Amino acid sequence: MPPGVILVAVSKTKGDKAILEALDAGQEVFGENRVQEMTEKWERLPKKIQWHMIGHVQRNKVKYMAPFVALVHGVDSMRLLKELDKQGKRFKRTIDCLLQIHIAEEESKFGFDSEEIIPLVRSEDFTNLTHVRIRGLMGMATFTDDKAQIRKEFKGLKSLYDRVKEILPEIDILSMGMSDDYEIAIEEGSNMVRIGSRIFGPRQ
Ligand SMILES: *Cc1c(COP(=O)(O)O)cnc(C)c1O
Repeated sequence: MPPGVILVAVSKTKGDKAILEALDAGQEVFGENRVQEMTEKWERLPKKIQWHMIGHVQRNKVKYMAPFVALVHGVDSMRLLKELDKQGKRFKRTIDCLLQIHIAEEESKFGFDSEEIIPLVRSEDFTNLTHVRIRGLMGMATFTDDKAQIRKEFKGLKSLYDRVKEILPEIDILSMGMSDDYEIAIEEGSNMVRIGSRIFGPRQ
């Protein structure tokens, strides 16, 4: 990875052996997309691993990961933020979060629309949160071979990130890029990439 870009090794569906090999090689940040699988891995694997939740989170699962999760990438509603805040309070810690933005052409239930973000971060509901810390934004490009399309979507997310940073100068993470598009993402300003199959091989 170029300096300044954090690699999240996406270990979903992968067993302990593959994770321990990567850990041995110096990789300490891992990403999972299911709370239960991540929690089980956290319980039995070395505690120096930083676990990132990269998938969609149901509110009733937040309590299981609240004690240990290092970063929640997929925050896509105020209700979820409020639950993360509540559980952060309960476990006496601040939970780092990214707001997930819907940038792809595909229809998806997940992610905020770009236009929602500026009003959200200015809202009273948002400024009242005490036990979550917004570290930045996350997005996934359209699943396509059209490189120009992917680049356009990443550019759009970077410019939204820059606008949010004018309001929240402390944000420092732009999570974009996966195995097939991370090079474009980094060219467009990503500083955190989530890579699974390029590291661990194809998933079943
Ligand atoms: C699975 C997943 C990845 C990694 O995908 P690869 O194509 O295997 O690199 C990245 N981000 C999210 C949100 C994922 O669910």
